[in-house]
Amino acid sequence: MTSETVFVTGATGYIAGHIILQLLNKGYKVVGQVRSVSKGEILAKEVNNANFSYEVVEVLEKEGAFDEVLLKHPEVTLFMHTASPVQFSQVDHEKNTLIPAINGTKNVLASIHKVAPQIKRVIVTSSVVAAATFAELADPNFIGGEDSWSSITYEQAKTNDASTAYAGSKKFAEQAAWEFVKQQKPTFKLTTVLPSYVFGPQAFEFGVKDLNHSSEFLVGALKLTKDSKIPAAESICVDVRDVANAHVKALESNEAAGKRIVVSNSRFVYGQFVDIIRRNFPNYTKQLPFVETLPSDYFANYNRFGDSESRRILDIEYIDFEKTIIDHITQVLAFQFIQVY
Ligand code: NAP
Repeated sequence: MTSETVFVTGATGYIAGHIILQLLNKGYKVVGQVRSVSKGEILAKEVNNANFSYEVVEVLEKEGAFDEVLLKHPEVTLFMHTASPVQFSQVDHEKNTLIPAINGTKNVLASIHKVAPQIKRVIVTSSVVAAATFAELADPNFIGGEDSWSSITYEQAKTNDASTAYAGSKKFAEQAAWEFVKQQKPTFKLTTVLPSYVFGPQAFEFGVKDLNHSSEFLVGALKLTKDSKIPAAESICVDVRDVANAHVKALESNEAAGKRIVVSNSRFVYGQFVDIIRRNFPNYTKQLPFVETLPSDYFANYNRFGDSESRRILDIEYIDFEKTIIDHITQVLAFQFIQVY
């Protein structure tokens, strides 16, 4: 057991919810950053743990945004920056996605460097889309991973569609973090965690009521009908509980300091969601289009997105893909919080 305190930005988020629960289970104290008192109150009520408190920082991209809260919490020695815009309906990509992600990350690191030298470790949540384009991730023969960067340019991120903006925001925010460390040589050690598509149940009830983007993508399968065409999507994915575990393990591992940690478990095609739902939720067997069950070795000869260092350092026993999907859909269909730990 530990008595250390971890500051978690984006505390209302899907992934952050699991990080908070896992940290509290391990005996850490947690200060979560939220964007409003009302969100903080809802979160604190659901977390319901005396070792959790929240602070409001409304606008991440404002210079010095974290100075005040960090000065107020000199007990914080560990920091996780998960907050980032994950929205695909906005139109001003630079204002709504790129600047909050990039400047938010820079501000967090600058505040820690300036006013909180007691903070030893910082984890920034990046994404595999910082390391490869969506098209590359869909290609089972693509070789990339912990050492690669997506080829996306700032101009493309600014002017193309909202998904491209999101991908660019993750690449340029992560690069800004590494650049900050290179230039400023702070006393903290940086690790970036790069999850693939994240699925699995929400940590809190408010998350089930207002699903995050990757959950919406999966849950969209429930809306298909017998004659629907199966979306052609293919990529790589991981359970949210494993992503949270990777963040916590990275925080505790000296070997993870200074590294990019890819967290990914399975390849998937969208049809698998449909097949798993049909086989496990009888009410949907007739409604959804028939999809052949893929043989278990279907992806065996495809390239794994490079994560050998992460696997070695974190030694995570990943949750099986089918269990992830079943747990996620069970929770959504019940439309209520189910115990996930
Ligand atoms: P989420 O549920 O949408 O959470 C996003 C969090 O960031 C929320 O706390 C949100 O606060 C905050 N946020 C959003 N826009 C913001 C802004 N402009 N300024 C300040 N805070 C903002 O998403 P998530 O899936 O948990 O994602 C968490 C992190 O994981 C992100 O960095 C994301 O890029 C990364 N990631 C996610 C996936 C995935 O498949 N889910 C995969 C790879 C990486 P509010 O609640 O106030 O909106």
